[in-house]
Amino acid sequence: MSSIEDLLLARNGPMTTELVQRPGDFGLGRVPARLAPAGTAKAVCGFCSTGCSLQVHLNAAGEAINLTPDPDYPVNLGMACPKGWEALTPLAAADRARTPLLRDAGGELRPVDWTQAMTVFTARMKSIQAEHGPGAVAVLSTGQIVMEEMALLGALAKFGMGVAELDSNTRQCMATSHVAYKQSYGFDAPPFTYADFEESDVLVFVGANPCIAHPIMWQRVMRNRRNPAIIVVDPRRTETAMAATLHLPARPKTDLTLLYGLARELIRRGAVDAGFVAAHTTGYAEFAAFVEPYTPEHVAAETGLGVADLLRTAELIARPGARVSYWWTMGVNQSHQATRTAQALINLSLMAGQIGKPGTGANSITGQCNAMGSRLFGNATSLIGGYDFANAAHRQHVGAILGLDPALIPAQASQAYDRILDAVDRGEIRALWIIATNTAHSWINSGKFSQLRDKLDFLVVQDMYATTETARQADLVLPAAGWGEKDGVFINSERRLGVARKVARAPGQALSDFAIFQLVAEAWGCGPSFARWRSPAAAFAILKELSRGQPCDFSGIRDYDHIEASGGIQWPFTAADAAAEINESRIMNNELKPEKPTESSDQTIINHKSLIINSSERRLFADGKFFTPDGRARFLFDEPVPLPEPPDAAFPFLLNTGRGSSAQWHTGSRTDKSAVLRKLAPTQPWIELHPADAVPLGAVTGDTMQVRSRRGVTTALAVVTPIVQPGQVFMPLHFPEVNLLTFPAYDPHSRQPAYKACAVAVSRMQNP
Ligand code: SF4
Repeated sequence: MSSIEDLLLARNGPMTTELVQRPGDFGLGRVPARLAPAGTAKAVCGFCSTGCSLQVHLNAAGEAINLTPDPDYPVNLGMACPKGWEALTPLAAADRARTPLLRDAGGELRPVDWTQAMTVFTARMKSIQAEHGPGAVAVLSTGQIVMEEMALLGALAKFGMGVAELDSNTRQCMATSHVAYKQSYGFDAPPFTYADFEESDVLVFVGANPCIAHPIMWQRVMRNRRNPAIIVVDPRRTETAMAATLHLPARPKTDLTLLYGLARELIRRGAVDAGFVAAHTTGYAEFAAFVEPYTPEHVAAETGLGVADLLRTAELIARPGARVSYWWTMGVNQSHQATRTAQALINLSLMAGQIGKPGTGANSITGQCNAMGSRLFGNATSLIGGYDFANAAHRQHVGAILGLDPALIPAQASQAYDRILDAVDRGEIRALWIIATNTAHSWINSGKFSQLRDKLDFLVVQDMYATTETARQADLVLPAAGWGEKDGVFINSERRLGVARKVARAPGQALSDFAIFQLVAEAWGCGPSFARWRSPAAAFAILKELSRGQPCDFSGIRDYDHIEASGGIQWPFTAADAAAEINESRIMNNELKPEKPTESSDQTIINHKSLIINSSERRLFADGKFFTPDGRARFLFDEPVPLPEPPDAAFPFLLNTGRGSSAQWHTGSRTDKSAVLRKLAPTQPWIELHPADAVPLGAVTGDTMQVRSRRGVTTALAVVTPIVQPGQVFMPLHFPEVNLLTFPAYDPHSRQPAYKACAVAVSRMQNP
């Protein structure tokens, strides 16, 4: 037997060569030699809207075996959060749906083949439409599938199947930003680029916790070399608030009052860019008069903040020459006065002329990886391509591009998600086709969905897993390929198109959503109308045509390879941009001199080259021209509205919900499949309680608490922490129990559910 020394110094045999690390010639880091990839393929991550590029390692058979973050992509610069690192794991989960499943007479879901699945799908949907009218069938879609798939679904459902009502879980995520931008700028147009995280002198985060929810964006903030002031408006002392220069723990949903107060202070301090306001906006005089009563004392009384903190904030954002950017996400979007709150941030950036320049803007941080694709091409609220259903010329134009009779295009937008479910409740909608979303878990006041299920004659769920809370209730399950098993485009928060590549085969008979929609079109009898949509790449070419001439024009993009070679491409990217790009690349290669220097010097060429490099990070509205008919941005505002369900004697706590960990994604249908991710966050629901509230409840961390609202009851483990304020509690949204409690209030403009505030009672459970 070898001595221990021989064993440790052995150069061959077990535990020797297999531990040698292969250098990172595939991108980043090193891997054991046995895992050295034969090749790599790039794919933009399919979880959140950051849009990180991942370098997927392939074996000799072309199968994905590993991944590392892409070091060259301008979004993530070689970084990924835990979800990205684990992106391949959910594909191999044992509970993947591998075959269509049809509920039999005994109530069991049984495997069937695609022919039978399509026969049942069309027969049931058509008979429901024949009996109750075309409006009796509705679709609930997602911001998680690629753009080509959402577009084909939207076109097929509305122009092929005669479905009037189609909405998606983007309603839960970005409907507010969509409406806020559309009303203020004339188009749903987030103006920023991620470089603005690094270029700001003052960053104001409202209802956003990027440390947890968007960790790679937070890394971009950490790269800021301007020693920025970071201001966080959030009732919780979140991880981001802990890292901030100034935390403003305003009472829940008083952010609108605070922002009006800050606008008043900007005016009082003479920090308004009068020239910009006069040349590029409308409604400023009315807005200035409106905010006059929002004195520091009034704002302090409403928000619970100190006057000194308000004035300190005003001082920071009004500092002459400072670049100020405002960032919001779900704390704003998921509120009963969400649209006006988002617009209060837009108003602050407009009045100071802080838009279209480095480090500025009122900027929405998106949730889902392809919410922007859904907003532009989902065919729900806007006609596919960002057009208007009510505009006959738009219907004509879209019909001509799609080769369809414009009469097939409805003249009104779909109803919102909540109203679709209300129509189910009234018995008007009798069949639902739900795609890649988990309504039974994620919809507000989710207990109601189970009651609605009994009112549906037919529920079809199309998903990677037959085990989600919603799929388990389906009559028919259509097994879908997931991220990594199909090609297509996502658009991230900063309007960047990125390509998701097929790097793995879907299991069993599972098909890409695109292929399933093609099958439905054929089975429905409208296949010829969608013959041009023969592949995701062909669909992308159609979407380019739809975008041409729109603010989101990306008709200058050649194909997926062009996007990939460019490190993603932000819209707009017109044919003229494409021509300029060709010239720019020739300049970079020293094949061409810049067109217009009057004096041709090396320095001119260097300056031109640095402009070209910066053109991979582009922002909107540098020219002050907006997409409204008169080219001016609008100041929009309303009086704040009280909380729909404030605490009272019976339900004395205000429940806030949000992300609890960067290792969990939404309802956990994918992230729960990863043993690594499950280890990074508690697997049981928890509730954060302030110590001052825990004492009278007799609770300590680890106790089981009962949490009740007027709609439901659940239990959660107590976490006693001053992160929350007295009288407020917090629960992470990833557990299905949480939406049993939430109150179904909606923003009146965006119909986005207000997940962030409802009244609950909390008590300590007795030990058994
Ligand atoms: Fe990047 Fe978001 Fe994917 Fe994490 S989940 S790797 S932050 S895109």
